[in-house]
Amino acid sequence: MNKVNELNIFLKNKDARFILEYFIKSYSGKTAFSTSFSIEDQVITHILSELTLQPKIFTLDTGRLPEETYKIIDRTRESYGVDIEIYFPNFDSVEKMVREKGVNLFYNSIEDRKLCCHVRKIEPLKRALKGFEVWITGLRREQSITRKNINVVEYDDINQIIKVNPLFNWTEEDVWDYIRKNNIPYNSLYDKNYKSIGCEPCTRAVRPNEDIRAGRWWWENPETKECRLHLACLNSSRMSTGFGGHDKEELFEKQK
Ligand code: SF4
Repeated sequence: MNKVNELNIFLKNKDARFILEYFIKSYSGKTAFSTSFSIEDQVITHILSELTLQPKIFTLDTGRLPEETYKIIDRTRESYGVDIEIYFPNFDSVEKMVREKGVNLFYNSIEDRKLCCHVRKIEPLKRALKGFEVWITGLRREQSITRKNINVVEYDDINQIIKVNPLFNWTEEDVWDYIRKNNIPYNSLYDKNYKSIGCEPCTRAVRPNEDIRAGRWWWENPETKECRLHLACLNSSRMSTGFGGHDKEELFEKQK
């Protein structure tokens, strides 16, 4: 049995706090948490702020975020006193892309949309995760068709990192219950029927009964609606059971 399976069995039925504490202690100084200030990420930030040890916390500022997201960045910093590192896209790449394709290239085609996501998100993410061994995210199974098979522990082949999803089996209601019970600050766009918030030009409010991710890249099919930040795990069921042929045993040695 490989280590991802072992960890998934060990962590089965453990709560999010246990899972977070386990990885932060086992991979002290080697664990990073990426936040987009979603309600899920705010729950994780809240839990992390109560733990003695904390991972590196970072966010990606694509340059196209809604003003409401900038407000919650500052509010979160003030509320929890946590250090949140902000990564920006490489300006040479943005200038080249915009010069060649236009400022709103994402509406042209899926290919151009993915190029924009690559320049503004994927490359900065790679820089942010460099040198780390564990990446904590706020992904949930219920969020979309592309996320329905995720597990608590996976291996991200693209970024060569252990990926941990402590809220993988939470429902949207679970998240809101936790937010309200703990008076956690959240992005005010949620009060305007936004359910999943990304860049301003690629996010809209959703109508009643629409899917949580329906407001993201709404002009595309549900199957294509990922920015590739999480694609390595989402695309392949082998990620939930193994390392896709890569020898990553050494990453787990510290837990023994
Ligand atoms: S979500 Fe839209 S604006 Fe943001 S990086 Fe992707 S394509 Fe570009």
